[in-house]
Amino acid sequence: TITQFTSPKLIREILAQRNFAPRKSLGQNFLVDGNILDKIANAAELDPSDRVLEIGPGLGALTAKLLERAGLVVAVEYDRGLYSILQEQFGEAANLRLNHQDFMEFDLGRLSGAATASGTGRWKVVANLPYYITTPAIFKLVESEIAWAAMVFLVQKEVALRMTAEPGGKDYGALTVMLNYYGRVERVAPVPKTVFYPAPQVDSAIVRIRPVADPEHRRLYPYLHRVVQAAFGQRRKTVLNALQSVAGDKEAGGAILESLGIDPGRRGETLDGEEFAALARALRERDS
Ligand code: SAM
Repeated sequence: TITQFTSPKLIREILAQRNFAPRKSLGQNFLVDGNILDKIANAAELDPSDRVLEIGPGLGALTAKLLERAGLVVAVEYDRGLYSILQEQFGEAANLRLNHQDFMEFDLGRLSGAATASGTGRWKVVANLPYYITTPAIFKLVESEIAWAAMVFLVQKEVALRMTAEPGGKDYGALTVMLNYYGRVERVAPVPKTVFYPAPQVDSAIVRIRPVADPEHRRLYPYLHRVVQAAFGQRRKTVLNALQSVAGDKEAGGAILESLGIDPGRRGETLDGEEFAALARALRERDS
């Protein structure tokens, strides 16, 4: 039977038995609230044909909820101590594949062979992300070859605000533009710091990303990435200056802006998603 570590007391006990202290450097804040765990799992709208990738299962509280709902869960945990606790806890679960690895090193190509009992269903990602790899982990997923059906993350509140920010504001940045090009981003629910053990410094939020199928996605993405990096690499830079490095020189950059009717004196961080995509398209066309 699987012990559900849904109280701080139980977690303290199991950790003390093993001389294990939560590591701040690995973002180890464990969820101890069954309602929040249900909210995360529900937001993924799972059914038995779904396959789930979980990043950082920790003590397995969320993993247990995912196993109840999905056909298969592939979980990647970096911490050796937690990995062995997970193995003991879930050793018998037929629809779980545990991996002891740094997610940033994990080869997503390995997922293609994993099937549920009913075959190969949609892939979803569900994770209470370790905060220090939030942005690179999301970029890794978005840039992968896998057609994710949905991603549900628990992230720091300020990251959730960045993901859903409007152009021009302080939260608007590369993460905002790239994610909103990739799909629709929603803030599902706020999560207070009191539902974790140990409690983190800041509040969190559940976010859901539903990818939008776009046939030009693969080809446009690298161009968008370059324009966005240039625009946000140095705030307060004009869009003309930002584009100069990507387009080759100022003249080429200016011509592209003129053809799109974008004022070259605007600051990069005021461009909306459509304008960034238009710039990426113009650069791609020039190359082809
Ligand atoms: N899922 C658990 C929960 O909700 O209670 C734990 C979430 S905790 C915020 C983040 C987890 O990610 C920890 O178990 C931590 O050890 C793990 N982790 C940290 N860095 C990782 C990495 N690079 N790759 C995979 N897992 C990582």
